Amino acid sequence: MIQLHAPNSLSRKSNIFQLVKQINTVDIIHKYNIANMHRHGRYWVGLCPVHQDKKPSFYTFQDNKCKCWGCGFYGDAIDLVAKVYGLRPIEAARMIARDFGIEVDNRPVSLEARRKAKQLAIEAAQKREIEKIFKQKRDRALEILSLFVRTTNHVLAAGGYQAHYDLAELLHKTDYQEYLTECLLSKDPDLQLMALTAPEVQQWLE
Ligand SMILES: [Zn+2]
Repeated sequence: MIQLHAPNSLSRKSNIFQLVKQINTVDIIHKYNIANMHRHGRYWVGLCPVHQDKKPSFYTFQDNKCKCWGCGFYGDAIDLVAKVYGLRPIEAARMIARDFGIEVDNRPVSLEARRKAKQLAIEAAQKREIEKIFKQKRDRALEILSLFVRTTNHVLAAGGYQAHYDLAELLHKTDYQEYLTECLLSKDPDLQLMALTAPEVQQWLE
């Protein structure tokens, strides 16, 4: 149980907001598995949970506010939980308060909202896991493709025209591998998936 104190004059509603705002935002983010934040000097940084983030653009500051430099999201933990789980701010605040052991009032978050939030949390965790595996495979595929292309170019450079002639098939493959590399590096998930599941890539990833 976290011991927090709010002035008595506050209404119940602002009371709960005030209390929740005192909880460390990074703790809330990690509790709900919203993002995996890493300390970076005075900030915490991670992949943005609001948009499809490729490089960590999501920051949490010492004032407990979060900002994404990718999609522009800005707010506190309540705004973030509300956004990610599709809750109203008051529902998000109540859920956080309850999960952090703060009893403010007797009205809990509706069962439906909690069930929805839990389901969304599971889905978000699964999505992150899939994205992680996808990224690992993509990086490995890029490594292999780049090795192939470099090796072929070396062979071609060393062998001159005759090599080009003899290695026409190899050259053709290189073009294709370069194309697959471009697909893997593109922002289009369909293209990335196509390249990743191409037999030329798959055989090296098994
Ligand atoms: Zn974002």
